[in-house]
Amino acid sequence: MKYDVVIIGSGLGGLLCAYILAKSGRHVCVLEQNQAIGGCLQSFRRNDLTFDTGFHYIGGLEEGQSLHNLFRYFNLLHLPWQKLDTDCFDEIIIHGKKYQFANGHEHFIETLSKEFPHQKENLRQYSKKLQEIGNALFDNFKGKAIDFYESPYFTQSAKEFIDKTIDDDDLKCVLAGASLKMQLDEHLPLYIYAQINNSFIESAWRIKGGGMQIAESLVNDIRKMGGDIFCKQKVTQLVDEDGRAKRAIVNHGEAAYEADFFISDAHPARTNEWLEESKSIRKVYRNRIKNTPNSFGIFTTHLQLKENRIPYRNYNQYIYETKDLWHFSESSNEGKSILVNYQVPEKGNFTRNIDLLTPMRWEEVQKWEGTHIGQRGEEYEALKREKANSCIALAAKYIDGIEKAIERVYTSTPLTYHDYTGTQCGAAYGIQKDRNKLLQTILPTQTPIKNLYQTGQNINLHGILGVSITALLSCAEITGMDWIKEEIGL
Ligand SMILES: Cc1cc2nc3c(=O)[nH]c(=O)nc-3n(C[C@H](O)[C@H](O)[C@H](O)COP(=O)(O)OP(=O)(O)OC[C@H]3O[C@@H](n4cnc5c(N)ncnc54)[C@H](O)[C@@H]3O)c2cc1C
Repeated sequence: MKYDVVIIGSGLGGLLCAYILAKSGRHVCVLEQNQAIGGCLQSFRRNDLTFDTGFHYIGGLEEGQSLHNLFRYFNLLHLPWQKLDTDCFDEIIIHGKKYQFANGHEHFIETLSKEFPHQKENLRQYSKKLQEIGNALFDNFKGKAIDFYESPYFTQSAKEFIDKTIDDDDLKCVLAGASLKMQLDEHLPLYIYAQINNSFIESAWRIKGGGMQIAESLVNDIRKMGGDIFCKQKVTQLVDEDGRAKRAIVNHGEAAYEADFFISDAHPARTNEWLEESKSIRKVYRNRIKNTPNSFGIFTTHLQLKENRIPYRNYNQYIYETKDLWHFSESSNEGKSILVNYQVPEKGNFTRNIDLLTPMRWEEVQKWEGTHIGQRGEEYEALKREKANSCIALAAKYIDGIEKAIERVYTSTPLTYHDYTGTQCGAAYGIQKDRNKLLQTILPTQTPIKNLYQTGQNINLHGILGVSITALLSCAEITGMDWIKEEIGL
């Protein structure tokens, strides 16, 4: 089989690239190793309820905001988006004290200033910087190319920025409080912190019926444009000749897909494994990618609830029993933080399912690597039960009656993500970007193989917003940047 472009992986990054390139008239094919498409967008159904595995909410969907034009282009605005409460889309609870994040920068400042009146001017400076960086999101496309490795946004630390701008320790904690969406530590570039937080302050949205609808909508459109998407096609080798990739071999030789161009949406360490025999990939490059640290993983407790017990809340709750938020994913803070996400009810005012997300380190599950899902043994099951119980106990402090309302509990660990998405170490957000090691951690879309490009959360910025921007950059390698700019209207 011969295509113009073969895309490996049907996560958001892969599907967006397929959509753009199919729209440009190219014959595209997406190869997915799993039996279901979507990667971290996958939802699962149990007892007529939909549970999300990765994606839970996005920011910036309204006209004029960061994600709007992109989602309009990708025909995703028609999905059942549910806008979260504008007075409080995220509630941050630290040692029992509650704070609200409101939408709109002015409203955000006013709301937090009620708790921290002496910090109002500092909050204004904080907000101004977030907007300045947010407004630079499309600079690469406007001829004002951001040189990632030189930009102060990338080399400046998010933590140092907050420490310099805010002089109240409690407010510093609160501003870090919605950050299960990224790995907070001293290495986190300000750019990533600001882009993500800015887009959610603009506006915040859940999707009724599960994140999988994003993948399904893209797949429908790609197929309408003549693209092919094949599941259960695990790429096991990329064959290259004279520095160019020729074909992707799936399932150890079961089939081969030829193309002029290839894009990998998988973790770059996986991509290198497919090229084990290539002379174009130097050992030093392989080792660099293999040894680059990845973000923490996530343990999710999916709760199926009895009917009419737990009122739906149109906002998220971030609950902490620590003030050490910049290290909340480290072992010393285990069990002290959760994000509570309510699924939008299919009808009525009560939710039937809630997800509790907490960071989990790869080392906690590493010894079961290589075992099969559902057959990892009692010790692994006991670890999951213990984790789930501690998350439920923390949630129960703020959600009346939740323990008695639970009908069923499902869980997933970083090992689940590792096995389903091929993510190195089950990392929730892929390669951990480090402002001190930009060359090593902000990977380019190009690879040492001339016609092989990378996309997805390991490149540039993670999350739905980051992966969408990167898809444009990956496709620009094939279509040219001018075509992308005109096509998207940038
Ligand atoms: C628990 C969790 C919660 C999250 N919550 C949010 C949120 O609320 N908002 C937000 O914006 N972001 C969130 N994210 C992040 C967001 O979901 C991801 O950044 C994004 O979906 C990643 O997309 P991707 O295409 O880069 O990778 P992936 O979704 O990992 O896709 C990679 C795909 O490649 C496939 N693949 C790998 N190897 C092969 C192979 N050999 N052959 C064929 N196919 C292969 C995989 O099976 C997978 O389908 C969350 C992530 C996690 C884990």
